[in-house]
Amino acid sequence: MNYKLNINSRKEALIKLLDVIIKHENEIIEALYDDFRKPPFESIATEISYVISELKYTIKNIEKWSKTRWVFPSLLNFPSTDYIVKEPYGKVLIISPWNYPFQLAFCPMISAVAAGNQVVLKPSELAPKTSSQIVKIIEKVFHHHHVKVIEGGIEAAKNLLAQRWDYIFFTGSATVGKIVAKAAAEHLTPTTLELGGKNPCIIDETANLKLAAKRIVWGKFLNAGQTCIAPDYILIQEDMKSHFVDFLKKEITNAYGKNPQESPDFARIINEKNCYRLMSLIEPKKVIFGGETDIDSCYISPTLIEEDSLDTSLMSEEIFGPILPIITYKDEKKIELTLSKYGKPLALYVFTDDRKFAKKIITQFAFGGGCVNDTVIHFANKRLPFGGVGHSGMGAYHGQLSFDTFSHKKAIVKKANWLDLNIRYAPYSKKLDTLKNILKWF
Ligand code: NAD
Repeated sequence: MNYKLNINSRKEALIKLLDVIIKHENEIIEALYDDFRKPPFESIATEISYVISELKYTIKNIEKWSKTRWVFPSLLNFPSTDYIVKEPYGKVLIISPWNYPFQLAFCPMISAVAAGNQVVLKPSELAPKTSSQIVKIIEKVFHHHHVKVIEGGIEAAKNLLAQRWDYIFFTGSATVGKIVAKAAAEHLTPTTLELGGKNPCIIDETANLKLAAKRIVWGKFLNAGQTCIAPDYILIQEDMKSHFVDFLKKEITNAYGKNPQESPDFARIINEKNCYRLMSLIEPKKVIFGGETDIDSCYISPTLIEEDSLDTSLMSEEIFGPILPIITYKDEKKIELTLSKYGKPLALYVFTDDRKFAKKIITQFAFGGGCVNDTVIHFANKRLPFGGVGHSGMGAYHGQLSFDTFSHKKAIVKKANWLDLNIRYAPYSKKLDTLKNILKWF
């Protein structure tokens, strides 16, 4: 069934959604806590308030974003009026992951609805309590032909991917991203792939080490390291290392106390499988801080690893947990060698007081987005595109870009009839010189 809504009806639906989310705030916080002990502060800061602010921003701007945009006509088409019409793709499939299970399901869904699409959303089966909340909220707001949630795991996702969609928006791992891309290719369906990667965090000899440690500890151990844009590994100028490690240890203790297992502010690993995977990455002799684990409660403490090789299992894949390898470099060649071993990351962070060094790193390496002297916070600005490049994904969203992502931009030239220049019509034989003369002006 085709379900076309005008701008006012879309806006009304989004206003209702805002109201229902606000009313369910406590239940959402509880669900996230039940799924993997996400601290309520983090649930509000990185999930619920983010979705609320995205909703408010979209509601405020939906008319402006959806307007037909007039563009300067090409003189080659003279006389004409040229414009771009934004129209919904149609039926959109959104597949989301478990690590920010509320935000990463709702944010693309809000924009897909704002742009006028019908949506089928498949949340992650690994955060089942949050998934149930998502169903509850969506069913209160939307007709099932407008937005529908399909819960389930890999089989459910595969069944959905076997169908024809007008757009697919996927957030998750690069491995599953490839499966999604293949399925989309079957029907030539346009896709956004929001994937992960090994995000470097480079620290040079001019950096403010104390502040760097504080900001890195926050960005790395937020959500117990299960953040797609968390720093994956540190690459620090070798003379700075021991000083920096001292700061890191202090900041971890400041944030989570002497026993992070007792801290209400430190989340758990999503499940036993991931916990075992992470435990297997820890080589006890390389641990310089932390390293405690408790499989019964899916706990892994904030852990620092002194890493001297890129050939270990820790350095061969995205870590996606609270383990932070620290690698040193002597000269910039080592930075280049290290980064070039991996695909283009989703994020890169550089800590330095040397503007030239920061600029060099930013221009030399390809990555989705990042920060100078901070971590993760580029995510928070709706005016910045969020997305990967190469191995870390394709396409980007947030703010108006999300609306545009879910809109087909239809290009129209409205030609006037009062003049019809003959030059473009065959026979061409006597017109070539005239054409060449005209083209000189363009
Ligand atoms: P995942 O790829 O395992 O799962 C994501 C979604 O795909 C889930 O809904 C899951 O049910 C589905 N899925 C899993 N296997 C499938 C298959 N074989 N066929 C079809 N669908 C399948 O990812 P995850 O473990 O939920 O999330 C962690 C990954 O996501 C990390 O790599 C992380 O970096 C990435 N991530 C990226 C972003 C971003 O914005 N770029 C945000 C969060 C997480």
